[in-house]
Amino acid sequence: MHTLHIAGSDERLPVGKMLCLGKNYEKHAKEMGGDVPADPVIFMKPATALVYDGGQVLIPAISNDLHHEVELVVVIGSTARDVAEAEAMNHVLGYAVGLDMTLRDLQSAAKKRGEPWAAAKGFDTSAPISTVVPAERVPDPAALELRLEVGGEVRQHGFTRDMILGIPATIAYLSRIFTLERGDCIFTGTPEGVGPVHPGDALHATIPGMAELRVSVARR
Ligand code: MG
Repeated sequence: MHTLHIAGSDERLPVGKMLCLGKNYEKHAKEMGGDVPADPVIFMKPATALVYDGGQVLIPAISNDLHHEVELVVVIGSTARDVAEAEAMNHVLGYAVGLDMTLRDLQSAAKKRGEPWAAAKGFDTSAPISTVVPAERVPDPAALELRLEVGGEVRQHGFTRDMILGIPATIAYLSRIFTLERGDCIFTGTPEGVGPVHPGDALHATIPGMAELRVSVARR
C-alpha cells in the first residue's frame, strides 16, 4: 500500500491518482522552448511512483537524462466532482513539497512522435512527496516559496503566486474531467530552472516554513 504521511496525525492516507500540470509557470514554459499552452497540460503518475522523504529516485536503464522539477503538491481530502472555484479549497486536505522527476530524453522523444509521457513521467520513484501539512496550517498556499538544492547548490527558486492556473482554478478544472477523491494528489507545475541530476546526487526540496524533502539519485 502506498500511503501519505500527514503531519501531526497517525493516519496513513492511501495515495490515489496523481494528476500533474505541465507548463503552469510562464518562465518554465519558455525554457522548455514553447509558449504557455491555451489549455492546461495534464498527465498522471501511478501510486507506485511515490517516494518518501529520505528515499531514492532510481533511473531506469532506458534513460540517460533524469531532470528535477520542484512543485507544490495539493492533497485532496474529500470527493470533488464538478466543483466551482469558490468551493474548491474546501476539498483540500493539505499541501506538500514534491518532485516531478522526469526522464527528459524519453519525454522529448515522445513529444516528437506525438506519443504519451507515461514512461517519462510515471516510472517507479518519479514522485517524491514530503509529509503532508494540513491545510489549516497553510494560510495562503498562493504565497509559498519553492526551492530546490542539488548538492547544496540552488537550482530552482520560485513562488506559487506565479502559477498560471491557481489552486482553486486547478481543482475546479480537474474536477470537471476527473472525480477527485481523498488521497489524490495534484502536482501544480514547476518554476524555471529544471535540469539534470545524476547518480549520487542529493536533492533537497523545500517550501521554507512548511515542508522539506530529501532524496538521492541512483541507477536502478
Ligand atoms: Mg512538472
